[in-house]
Amino acid sequence: MNKKVPNEFYPNIYNINYQNLKDKGITTLFFDLDNTLIPYDVALLTDEVVNHLKELEKDFKVLIITNNKNRRTKLAVGNNFLFLANAKKPFKCGFKKGLNLTNSTPNEVASIGDQLMTDVIGAKKMGFYSILVNPVDPKSEGIPTKINRFRERCLLKRIKRRDPKLYKERLDQFEPR
Ligand SMILES: [Mg+2]
Repeated sequence: MNKKVPNEFYPNIYNINYQNLKDKGITTLFFDLDNTLIPYDVALLTDEVVNHLKELEKDFKVLIITNNKNRRTKLAVGNNFLFLANAKKPFKCGFKKGLNLTNSTPNEVASIGDQLMTDVIGAKKMGFYSILVNPVDPKSEGIPTKINRFRERCLLKRIKRRDPKLYKERLDQFEPR
C-alpha cells in the first residue's frame, strides 16, 4: 500500500517544507505541470510560479516533467526552466530521462504532483520521495484526467479501508475535486 501513498501531502506547492527536503539530502525537484503549477486551461506559468521556482533553483535543480504535449509545455515554460514533455508517467522511461537531464540519482529526487495514478505511483516506482498536492483547478481537467481521477477515487477508498491511520496522516486533506 505504501507504494501508492505519497511521503507527504501539502495543499499546494507554496506550503511544501523545502528546508526539510534539503535536510533529507534532496537535490532535485521534479514538478508536474498541469494542475500542480497551473490549471490545464492556462497557457503560461504565472509570475507567482516562476518566482517561486526561481527561488527554489538557488537550492535545488528543478525539472518540469509532464505527460502533456511538447507544444503546450514549451509555450508554458518557455526558457524559464528545464522541462520534459510526453513523459508517460507512471512509466519509468520519462523519469529516467529526467534523471539524465538533471544528472541526479533517484534518492536525491523529490517528485511533486497532483495525481496518485501518475505522479505518486510513478515516483514511488522510481524510488523518489513523493509529494502530493491538491489540483490547482479540478474543473479544468479533461476526459483522460477524469478517467484517472475515477481510478484514483477507487484507490483512495481502498487505502482508507486498509490503512485508516496512514490515510488520515497523508490523504485526508487531499481534495481532487
Ligand atoms: Mg497534473
